[in-house]
Amino acid sequence: MGSIYTSFVSKVAFPLHERLKSHRSVEIRKSLEQSQWQSREQIISQRDIRLTKFIAKAYRDVPYIKSVFDDLGLTPNAIQTSDDLTKLPFFTKETIKTNFEQLKSINAGPLTKGNTGGSSGAPLIFLLGKDRVSHDVAQKWRATRWWDVDIGDKEIVAWGSPIELGSQDRVRQVRDSLFRSHLIPAFDLTPRTIDGFIKQIISRKPMMLFGYPSVYAMIAKQAQAHQLQLAGLGIKVIFVTSERLYDHQRDIIEQVFGCPVANGYGGRDAGFIAHQCPKGSMHLSAEDIVVEIIDEQGNVLPDGQRGEIVVTHLASGDFPFIRYRTGDIATIATQHCACGRGLPILEAIDGRSTDFVMAQDGTKMHGLALIYILRELAAVEEFKIVQHSIETIQVDIVSSSFDSGLITDIEKGFKARLGRGVSVDVRHVETIASEKSGKFRYVVSHIA
Ligand SMILES: [Zn+2]
Repeated sequence: MGSIYTSFVSKVAFPLHERLKSHRSVEIRKSLEQSQWQSREQIISQRDIRLTKFIAKAYRDVPYIKSVFDDLGLTPNAIQTSDDLTKLPFFTKETIKTNFEQLKSINAGPLTKGNTGGSSGAPLIFLLGKDRVSHDVAQKWRATRWWDVDIGDKEIVAWGSPIELGSQDRVRQVRDSLFRSHLIPAFDLTPRTIDGFIKQIISRKPMMLFGYPSVYAMIAKQAQAHQLQLAGLGIKVIFVTSERLYDHQRDIIEQVFGCPVANGYGGRDAGFIAHQCPKGSMHLSAEDIVVEIIDEQGNVLPDGQRGEIVVTHLASGDFPFIRYRTGDIATIATQHCACGRGLPILEAIDGRSTDFVMAQDGTKMHGLALIYILRELAAVEEFKIVQHSIETIQVDIVSSSFDSGLITDIEKGFKARLGRGVSVDVRHVETIASEKSGKFRYVVSHIA
């Protein structure tokens, strides 16, 4: 039910924008809209054909991949189906850091730098080729259209990265206004800023919202407390991503906004791995991404069993991600979805969680506000932040160049966010231990 404007953006402006950037997302999206209705077996057999080509090309063009195969005494022919991937070692963040230069394809087109944002702790720098970006855009675009909305429909995005906000130059502004996407920074969440969000939502009347589930849950709670009516504004769907979506968050958001929440799972590194359909399933982007589920020893588990998500991204030829460990936990479902799409289903995803922290004056803020301070400091390799009370926060740092200057920088950044009176306890540690559950949480707040 798009307006004339939406159909102009979706059919004319966005395709033109993508062509100018030499992305192929339009034709890829069209093809994905066909393939999603194929049977699971058909989708997987098509994907395996692409996998063979992808591996052959990676072997030919990517020095690191060639060396892995050569060291194992394998030829690219050894990989004919996704089951054969078990012959290859896993990629970790360390693999990518150590072999960065060797991971670039000698035939790569123009590459852009990507880094892991959100709650993934130590940042990872990697490269994205045009093919990868086109496929990622197309996958997200297809999933958007599952909800009867399209690129070009009015959208409000609540996002928290100051890096992205900083890059909001003129071009970006023009593009955002053309695509009718309005960005609200979701950093310092005080009752006053949340009221501001609510006002903008009411006056702009977007058709869709996009952002962190925790932020929309807070907005919903406050709107409810003030008895503000957000249902009936015409919002069709709220897309959430980047964090774990809890049931209580979904419940309050859907109740207050009067529309469904659509979850998305993925990262800038691993790609858009799964998107929720209106029947409730998290469908894998199975044409482009091979997902394996492994146990703690690294053995691949059959569908229906729970383990770590490992991805091979078939559009990542310019800078390959092969058997990349995400650190997140999930199950591939054995059943099919009632919507009729053949795309396999990812269930019970666990692992992304970022706590809120509280400043001395009571301002609640997303844990990312602190994570970004540490990410700016080159000497910080890994970290964990634990807020013990409103006055004390502990910061564990893994660093090979830890010194008093680093301590000062961290203290300064944290006090600017949390308040001058907060005591910032910076500790130099060897490693960051995972929690009892086996998960890593990089921001933990003990303030209720
Ligand atoms: Zn479905």
